[in-house]
Amino acid sequence: MADRMTPQQRSRCMAAIKGKDTRPEIAVRRFLYSQGLRFRVNNRRLPGSPDIVLPRYRTVIFVDGCFWHGHEGCRHSRLPESNREYWLHKITLNRARDYRVDVELRQMGWIVMHIWECEIDETSLQILYQRIVGTPGIGEGYASTSDNDGGSSLAAEPPEAYGLPY
Ligand SMILES: [Zn+2]
Repeated sequence: MADRMTPQQRSRCMAAIKGKDTRPEIAVRRFLYSQGLRFRVNNRRLPGSPDIVLPRYRTVIFVDGCFWHGHEGCRHSRLPESNREYWLHKITLNRARDYRVDVELRQMGWIVMHIWECEIDETSLQILYQRIVGTPGIGEGYASTSDNDGGSSLAAEPPEAYGLPY
């Protein structure tokens, strides 16, 4: 019942309504966490507030809803019969924004990965994981060198920004 929700539950509920912490995102996070990866979630300091941020691998992941992000050829992205123009316009804008965000993040030195909501299963998550850990680059040395290169916008972030306990 609504009146028995704690403030925390309520805010979680609101977050779900706004599209944050939706089930597909949680499935991806849970899998990556079970593989030993640690990350931040919905980092609003980065363009597009990536769903998952892995500073150690300099990688961000977006879990894209098929409808809102226009997954071509996917049955989940079929437009409603009414107001087709409206939806088409809206989704085109979303895709344009996704593209801009990707470019911005890459310019900041991030590796950007996307996974479609409909494609989340054991196999695709394994592939995603392999891509993350197979990414050449930062590795263990990252944390100790980031103070010197000044290139990380995350370095100064307080621990509260972490989505999961370390
Ligand atoms: Zn899809």
